[in-house]
Amino acid sequence: MAADYRSKMENAKLKKRKSAPRRPKSLYSQEELREIFRRFCVQRPEPKGELEHINPFTLLVAVALSAQATDAGVNKATRALFKVADTPEKMLELGEERLRDYIKTIGLYRNKAKNVIALSRMLVENFGGEVPRTRDALVTLPGVGRKTANVVLSMAFGQATLAVDTHIFRIANRIRLAPGKTPDEVEEKLIRIIPDEYLYHAHHWLILHGRYVCKARRPECEHCIIADLCKSPEKTCDIPAPLVELPPQVIGATA
Ligand code: SF4
Repeated sequence: MAADYRSKMENAKLKKRKSAPRRPKSLYSQEELREIFRRFCVQRPEPKGELEHINPFTLLVAVALSAQATDAGVNKATRALFKVADTPEKMLELGEERLRDYIKTIGLYRNKAKNVIALSRMLVENFGGEVPRTRDALVTLPGVGRKTANVVLSMAFGQATLAVDTHIFRIANRIRLAPGKTPDEVEEKLIRIIPDEYLYHAHHWLILHGRYVCKARRPECEHCIIADLCKSPEKTCDIPAPLVELPPQVIGATA
């Protein structure tokens, strides 16, 4: 009887645990997480990506070209390119050879030119010349992976996604925010721990924080607004920098 009762209780507990929202363990409490993103929000109320684009198609092309290249390097090449080819139809008209000329300053340009022409063709043939609005459809395009798809969904269509690039991957692991061995693992954890109201801009806040403060070689903890909250063993200062709103970003001005 007692054993029956115990197993009923255990089943009930198991059921409760399974139905409860899954929140991965984080070194940071909910209050700390909220405070970190509140500060990012004060510092940059309207953060933007730094890849120049005119419409969802040019954004897709810019993101596809940006793998292993700096945003500034991509912007330099695409400024002239997008003047002549800002739709998939015009990109096909331009052709692979002339496209290569426009982007030859970008690493891996031969392969990237091939992909851009192939994805333009697929957009025209399968999607009526429009960039699709779902991740499943986007990742069917040549050269478009989950990260590129997430950037496009967020920046072009305002969907709350999180594309884990090199900066986000480093920060998530360095400060123990969402440690993971792969970008997908980090993405999954971040989406679960970031408070919902901050999820939409979190992608850009983390990238900009990584690019300008929590840098790869040496984090500039003395300029960091979350230095008191950060749990990184690498941090060199725990006094937070003054929390002020930064001037609007000048897109394309930085690497
Ligand atoms: S305190 Fe240092 S290590 Fe921590 S987030 Fe800031 S810059 Fe990065």
